[in-house]
Amino acid sequence: MRHFTKELSISTPNEDFIDITNTVNKAIRESGIKEGHCTVFIPHTTAGITVNENADPDVISDMLFALDKTFPDYAEFRHFEGNSAAHLKSSSLGCSQTFIIYEGQLLLGIWQSIYFAEFDGPRNRNYIVSIFGE
Ligand code: ZN
Repeated sequence: MRHFTKELSISTPNEDFIDITNTVNKAIRESGIKEGHCTVFIPHTTAGITVNENADPDVISDMLFALDKTFPDYAEFRHFEGNSAAHLKSSSLGCSQTFIIYEGQLLLGIWQSIYFAEFDGPRNRNYIVSIFGE
């Protein structure tokens, strides 16, 4: 069993879902691991990771719209930075996802992509790809 870890950087806009599927697949190719598991971890508290449709960009627009409706920016929030809505969105998606590596690449449905979700940009962010397998 082998292990490969890579830290990647991303520049994000104010708020968006950025497709990172290709860079994760590139890290898997670099690892040389053909079968195993891959965890993508985001070390941030106002960003998240999710998997969703890559065909119609309106799906992402609708998700951003619905997250804004679900987590409004209440005047009653106490957090001094003023970005509590972004913290709530981050926790709702989570900071890591694990994927199956099959035949040297991510096993995903045809319409699925992995998205880095930015809720408090623009920023320079990181994410870590940790690969186990052989
Ligand atoms: Zn904050």
